[in-house]
Amino acid sequence: MVEVILKGHDKFYGVSDVVRMFFGVPEELKDKGMVIAPEGPDIKLVNELFPDGRSVTFLGDKAYEFDGELLEPGREIKRSLYMAFSDITSQRMPWGCLTGIRPTLVACEEKDAQALEDKYFVRADKAELAFDTSREELRILSKAPEESLCVYIGIPFCPSRCEYCSFVSSDISCHMDRLVSYEAALEKEIKLIAPHINRPLSAVYVGGGTPTVLEEKEFASLLDSIYSNLRITPECEITIEAGRPDTITDGKLISMREHGITRICINPQTMRSDTLLKLGRKHTAEDTLRVYAKAVDMGFDLINMDLIAGLPYESAEDHVTSTKRLIELAPANITVHTLYKKRRARISREQVMDTDKTRGGLDECVAESYDLLREAGYHPYYMYRQKDTGHGLENTGFAKGDTGSLYNVAMMSDCRDVLSFGAGGMSKRCFKQEGELYKHRVERCPTIKDALTYVERVEEMAEKKIGFFSFQ
Ligand code: SF4
Repeated sequence: MVEVILKGHDKFYGVSDVVRMFFGVPEELKDKGMVIAPEGPDIKLVNELFPDGRSVTFLGDKAYEFDGELLEPGREIKRSLYMAFSDITSQRMPWGCLTGIRPTLVACEEKDAQALEDKYFVRADKAELAFDTSREELRILSKAPEESLCVYIGIPFCPSRCEYCSFVSSDISCHMDRLVSYEAALEKEIKLIAPHINRPLSAVYVGGGTPTVLEEKEFASLLDSIYSNLRITPECEITIEAGRPDTITDGKLISMREHGITRICINPQTMRSDTLLKLGRKHTAEDTLRVYAKAVDMGFDLINMDLIAGLPYESAEDHVTSTKRLIELAPANITVHTLYKKRRARISREQVMDTDKTRGGLDECVAESYDLLREAGYHPYYMYRQKDTGHGLENTGFAKGDTGSLYNVAMMSDCRDVLSFGAGGMSKRCFKQEGELYKHRVERCPTIKDALTYVERVEEMAEKKIGFFSFQ
């Protein structure tokens, strides 16, 4: 068992982040002033923060301390602990000691990628990725005035549950009856809040789950409600996450085009049909191709397609082949996710981490996908990491030209307010902080997760958000 004793500080969260990177899920024993990792080797360390801001991690008579410019205390303690663990395990993480903070946020503070390598031990390719992406994020974000608002509308239902899914989403095969009442409640919430919105909208994102799981009638009705209640100007970006190709019908595509929507997501995840079926997705790669061709034909010119690297049942080569097939289709955006596990997913931790290495190197195949995308004229425009990935990688959105999604950037950067409609949505307000260039203080307002309870208590949810945003 790994034991880390905290001395001179109480930053349990930061210590846990670094322990998790190397040794899996940690436990914080606050009464004893320590963080432990039951799965790790038997070692005892002291992570000390001194009054002058230095942090040293001690292991027996060995001391780990960075020799150079000091970071703020929270980052400094992670850095000295990372140095110790990296030495003990002979492991270097792709993102070095960057954890619990967005790499692009740190990259914004630095003048070049080299600084990320030198100060945070980030690997050269990742440092470059963070630096390039951060500049693109800032450029895209500048399109949304500070006072503008992003809107998220959530449909937490899907036609079936994917094996790797960690979202709050119900399989409609068991909840068909709930969809109609849920959509009606959503319209009600939009109607209740919309008249109070006193700020311009910069982006609207209809996500899920799978919004196109709604029947054509309800789907069209929801779009009518959005357009008749929210002030969607030509400058406002609007995206529909069509998601699963098995839910996209001609009628729904027509509805979207009639409302003037051209930005949609069609998400294959992989172009191997046998993997899709094993994962429980109930559609094939051919369905993706058919729906994509139809959407292009109908004038959708801003299509995002998601891929997941590291899926069970697949080799690294399969992922690279899927990337190549999407590049041939040439959608405006391709997003490469790396598989990760959260508690709700049915998939096991071993499958996520590929502990027996049957699927080949995830790190290498992601790097190869990125290279292929860059060669094909795509550039990274937004990026985020999830801390319990196991493999320490990231998710990156690539775009051609100026087609990157403002909503994605705004949402991930925590720099613009987001008003969420629907069950499980998280509204947030982002406040600029004195002395901080890019980091905002964020206040959050969650909505009830359970769809049934949301339907029953929709007025209360609307009132709570009107108060949260201080709408008059
Ligand atoms: S489509 Fe997405 S939200 Fe729905 S079950 Fe699959 S992974 Fe989860």
